[in-house]
Amino acid sequence: MSTHDDGQEQLILDMVDRFLEQEVKPHVWKLEHDDIYPTEIVEKMKTMGLFGCLIAPEYGGLGLSTVTYAKIIERISIVWMSVAGIINSHIIMAMAVQRNATAEQKQAFLPRFATGELRGGIALTEPDCGTDLQAIRTVAKREGDDYVVNGTKMWISNGIEGNCFALLVKTNPEAQPRHKGMSLFIAEKGPGFTVSRKLEKLGYKGIDSAELVFDNYRIPADRLIGGVEGRGLQMILNGLELGRINVAARGVGIAQAALDESVKYSQIRKTFGKPICEHQAIQIKLGDMATRTDAARLLTQRAAESYDRGERCDMEAGMAKLFATEAALENATEAMRIHGGYGYSKEYPVERLYRDAPLLVIGEGTNEMQRIIISRQLIERNKA
Ligand SMILES: Cc1cc2nc3c(=O)[nH]c(=O)nc-3n(C[C@H](O)[C@H](O)[C@H](O)COP(=O)(O)OP(=O)(O)OC[C@H]3O[C@@H](n4cnc5c(N)ncnc54)[C@H](O)[C@@H]3O)c2cc1C
Repeated sequence: MSTHDDGQEQLILDMVDRFLEQEVKPHVWKLEHDDIYPTEIVEKMKTMGLFGCLIAPEYGGLGLSTVTYAKIIERISIVWMSVAGIINSHIIMAMAVQRNATAEQKQAFLPRFATGELRGGIALTEPDCGTDLQAIRTVAKREGDDYVVNGTKMWISNGIEGNCFALLVKTNPEAQPRHKGMSLFIAEKGPGFTVSRKLEKLGYKGIDSAELVFDNYRIPADRLIGGVEGRGLQMILNGLELGRINVAARGVGIAQAALDESVKYSQIRKTFGKPICEHQAIQIKLGDMATRTDAARLLTQRAAESYDRGERCDMEAGMAKLFATEAALENATEAMRIHGGYGYSKEYPVERLYRDAPLLVIGEGTNEMQRIIISRQLIERNKA
C-alpha cells in the first residue's frame, strides 16, 4: 500500500513538466529519427529521483503513489513515449525486489536502483515464447554457492544501456506444474552475460531493445530473489499489474498527444474556405478522440487507486490497459487522417505516434490476453 499526497504530487508534476518542456521536447525529433539513446535525459532523470519514484523513502526513493506515477508517465508519453519505457521496466524490476526480496537484498539493491546507479529492467521473453512464459528454456543450475545460467532472452528493454535485470529462469525444468520450477534472480552484467544484438523496430526509438545471451553465467545464490526457488512466475505476475497501469498511462499519453495535435492542426488547415474543424466529419472524429482519451484516463486512475489501496486489481489494470492502448491506436490513426498528407510526413509528430502506439497493444500482456484475464476475473467475482 502507498499513500497519496496532493501537495507532493503537484510539486513533482510541476518539476516533470518543466523538465519535459526544457530538456526533452527540443530534442525528441532528432533523437527519435536517428534512433539515439537519450543519455543526457537519463542523467537528468537520475538527479530528479525518477528511477526511484516508487521505491520507499527508507531505501532512498521518492515513495510516490501509483496514482502520481501514472500521471508522470502520461505526461512523459505525451512528449516522447520512449522515455517512459526507460523508467518503466526499471521500476518493475525494483518493485519485484521491494515486494519479494530478503531484507539483505533490499538493502543491497534498492538504494542503488533509486539513484539509477544500477539501472535495467525485466528479462522474461525468449525467442520462442512471450505470452506462454511457463515455456521458457533459460535454466539456472545450482553449483556450490552459485547458480550457472544458460539461455537467451529476447526483446529486453534497456538491454544494452542497462546493467541489472530481474531474470526469469527455470531452476527445475522438470517441475509440474511448470511454474513451480521457475525462479527470479537479480542479475548484474558480468562474464557470461552478453548482449548479442540490438533489435531494430518500427517505432519506440531511442530506447534500446536487445537480445541477451547467458552462456555459463555464474550468479551467486544470494541473488535469488526472496531466497526461495519456485516463486519466480508469481513474483512476475504480481508485478505485471503495475506494468499494465504504466502501459495504460502511456496509452493515455499517446491518445492525448494525438488529440492535441489534431485540435491544433484542424484549426489551421483550411479547405473549401474554412478551417477543417468546422467540417462535421472532422468534428465527429475529434469528439470521439476526446471521449476515448478521458475514459482511458479515468480507467487508469481507477486501477492506480485500487493498486495503491493494496487490492487485487488484475481486472481493473487489464481493463485500463486494454482500453487506453486501443484508444492510443485509434487516436493515432485518426490524427493521421485529420492531418491528410502531412500526417504521413516526418515533419509532424503524428507519424511517430502512429508508429509508437501498436507496441502498447502487445507489451505487458497482449490485448487478446487482457480480454481473457478480464473475463476470467468477471466469472471469478460473480460465481453463479
Ligand atoms: C519493443 C518491445 C519491448 C519489449 N520489452 C520487453 C522487456 O523489457 N522484457 C520482456 O521480457 N519482454 C519484452 N517484450 C516482449 C513482449 O512482452 C512480448 O512480445 C509479448 O509478451 C508477446 O509475446 P510474443 O511476442 O512471444 O507473442 P506470442 O506469445 O507468440 O503471441 C502471438 C499472438 O498470439 C496471441 N496469443 C498467444 N497465446 C494466446 C492465448 N492463450 N489465447 C489467445 N491469444 C493468444 C497473442 O495475443 C498474440 O496475438 C517487448 C516487446 C517489444 C516489441
